[in-house]
Amino acid sequence: MPYNNILVAVDLGATTDTVAARAARLAQQNQARLHVLHVIEPLAITYGGDIPMDFSAIQDEIQSQAREQLDRLCEGLSIPAENRHLVTGRPESEIPTQAKAVDCDLIVVGSHARWGLALLLGSTTDGVMHSAECDVLAVKVDGDS
Ligand code: AMP
Repeated sequence: MPYNNILVAVDLGATTDTVAARAARLAQQNQARLHVLHVIEPLAITYGGDIPMDFSAIQDEIQSQAREQLDRLCEGLSIPAENRHLVTGRPESEIPTQAKAVDCDLIVVGSHARWGLALLLGSTTDGVMHSAECDVLAVKVDGDS
């Protein structure tokens, strides 16, 4: 059965092009629609309210830079504006939620080897695999980072 609706989650880091290119190829082979998602983690969550500061100006700047990067990536892949998704929250929960909202049958994420503390903390990909209601493809990206 071919996939009809694929969502690729990108962290906009060094390995984004590899993960997005893999998803774009799959979408082409399956003649599927491709959605691209980036999740902005709120600074207030990242710092757990430990720093008594108003982060709103920094958060707005992060949002506009992320929008620019996402648009640049999507223009290169000819992804229409309605299939570009920028949301705020925790990636491991937002990725499955957005995949469900746009009725995806495949989520594509990157997968890095992990050691030490990172292994204990777990990865976004592990979190997505636990809660996704559709197939998940973890693209190995270690050579790229
Ligand atoms: P990590 O757990 O940080 O190694 O990320 C693994 C993969 O999860 C990345 O290659 C992306 O596919 C996805 N991911 C991580 N963070 C985000 C984010 N903020 N927005 C969208 N996808 C993300």
